[in-house]
Amino acid sequence: IMENVIEVKNLTKEYKNLKAIDNLSFEVKSGEILGLLGPNGSGKTTTINSVLSLIKADGQIKIFGKEMSPDAYDIKRKIGVVFQEIAVFSELTVYENIDYFCSLYIADKNKRKEYVNDAIKLVGLENYKKFYPKQLSGGLLRRLNIACGISHKPELIFLDEPTVAVDPQSRNNILEGIKKLRDDGASIVYTTHYMEEVVDADYVYVMDKGHVVMQGTPREIFSQVGTLKEHRLDVPQITLLADLLRQSGLDIPLGV
Ligand code: ADP
Ligand code: MG
Repeated sequence: IMENVIEVKNLTKEYKNLKAIDNLSFEVKSGEILGLLGPNGSGKTTTINSVLSLIKADGQIKIFGKEMSPDAYDIKRKIGVVFQEIAVFSELTVYENIDYFCSLYIADKNKRKEYVNDAIKLVGLENYKKFYPKQLSGGLLRRLNIACGISHKPELIFLDEPTVAVDPQSRNNILEGIKKLRDDGASIVYTTHYMEEVVDADYVYVMDKGHVVMQGTPREIFSQVGTLKEHRLDVPQITLLADLLRQSGLDIPLGV
């Protein structure tokens, strides 16, 4: 088994006078959840788009040990992507939407049926299979968007701000789903600007202005809450944070 599924070195992306990504380097280890934590505009989406070769950036990107490029289809078919913007067909039901995206990868009907149902179960949409997107709440719609991106059981999954503007129940469902995908063997990269969500990651890179400003385990990141505030990250009430830490077995003094 390969240790690093992603290796990014010296990634830079400039838009006119703005460096959206500024000499960024990071690694994702096989079977781990990597959290990219950063305020809006820190370069999270640009990083994902560059790593996927959707946009051209300077630097080196290796996925599964191979150079990533726009036509690296052998790499791409082992990847699942859940974009920040919801992208589903309004004409198709929940089941049909997931089945459509799954069919791009899985030709065998029986296997696909199994995969689609696994995805529905993972995001908890069992009771909504025949619903159309417009009949779903924001949180359920985001869960559908996730199911569409992961139903083909990819080895590597990217989720860009999967919990933005969802109700607490959907948020928990999504974060639990991410952990289940990891426990089933996938490697995962997800972005967030909510500091408390890094509890669910195995390793965290904190980004600001296209740089990595801090990296470490959630425990190491949380021990520097004061520093994180300087980077305009959403910091919940300290008591809530302490509760989250305790639930996660990360009971540490916060020093704030
Ligand atoms: P995040 O996902 O962390 O919110 P983004 O990666 O979307 O951040 O954006 C990083 C920076 O790059 C922001 O300042 C944003 O305005 C800028 N940016 C992103 N895409 C473009 C683009 N196509 N043209 C010009 N500037 C862009
Ligand atoms: Mg973004």
